[in-house]
Amino acid sequence: MNKGENLNQLCRLATAKLDDLLDTLNVEYRICNKGFCGKCPVHDGADNEQGWIIYQSGYTVPGFWTCFTHHCEEEYDKNLLGLIKGIRKQGPADAIAFLEQFTKTKCTQKPSVPEQYIQSMQYDILEELEEEEKNYIPRSEARQNLIIPATYYINRGYTKNTLNRYDVGYARNEEIFPHTSNRAVVPIYDDTGTYMVGYSARIIYERCEYCNKYHDSGPCPQYATGAKWKHSEGLHSGDILYNWWSAKYYIKTTGTAIIVEGPGDVWKLEEAGLHNSIAILGSSLSMKQKNKIDICAPHKLILLLDNDEAGQKATNSIVHMCDKLYNMCIPPLSANDIGNMATKQIQKLLFPFVKG
Ligand SMILES: [Zn+2]
Ligand SMILES: [Zn+2]
Repeated sequence: MNKGENLNQLCRLATAKLDDLLDTLNVEYRICNKGFCGKCPVHDGADNEQGWIIYQSGYTVPGFWTCFTHHCEEEYDKNLLGLIKGIRKQGPADAIAFLEQFTKTKCTQKPSVPEQYIQSMQYDILEELEEEEKNYIPRSEARQNLIIPATYYINRGYTKNTLNRYDVGYARNEEIFPHTSNRAVVPIYDDTGTYMVGYSARIIYERCEYCNKYHDSGPCPQYATGAKWKHSEGLHSGDILYNWWSAKYYIKTTGTAIIVEGPGDVWKLEEAGLHNSIAILGSSLSMKQKNKIDICAPHKLILLLDNDEAGQKATNSIVHMCDKLYNMCIPPLSANDIGNMATKQIQKLLFPFVKG
């Protein structure tokens, strides 16, 4: 433990590592303007993806947050300590103990001070919080700010060519690619392939079989090390079909679309000579995504979702949505996902479906 700090300073230390803190608290979030947003992690049954925000900057109070639907901040206080109390359903003393552990710093003020501390806080806004602005970056600029290819994916068996085609690399620039240290950045382009609408970033560590967290080869960390994937600010993955800009031509000409979950699956299929795959970036097909596919009017959909419970559920739901319009093929995967299969295996599995 470091030398003692007062509670305000402790909250500041923790707010500086807000994404780690949210990971530790098992909060799901997206990066958004000046902070993070998502479903409210405090009240039960929160389902509004835009229902909650916590600011990393812009306020004098560290960890200023708001629950737009239930106003949980009014019950627990609109500061970091309040959020921890709300998520962990703890009193101030326990919440401070949690903060001490997270920051590895002793608090000089516990445990009687919190009420005073909270009352003395002022919720001054330092800056006007402007509306999120859609600022798409030209593909050439995105490429210039990446070190391509990401060795993480080379080590996983993808070719340099593929990673270069999809601009997969490490960020040179935290301004264009915030919160991507220790992550491989996967840019996501618009339907024409000329502008980056956002990115996803894959942590470069695998899930540890002992502690179930993603971390380096050192000892297991006490706290979570980050989500497997992080999406960029404002990215609505349900509006996007990854690889659409390229695959749409092939879908039109072959009359077949291959639906997969993630970018890695798309790359593997490219390497196997199949250029008509699109990733839904998750495990459900939205109406927006389906409408895009409908416009290309393929006669066949091949579903290659992951070989797990979520993938099975997604497959069932897509079949339900699409089987009146399309011939549906569901080839049996021999691995957990396409990304983990060898090129030859993929060709053997898929060529009969693609040709037939
Ligand atoms: Zn709430
Ligand atoms: Zn571990």
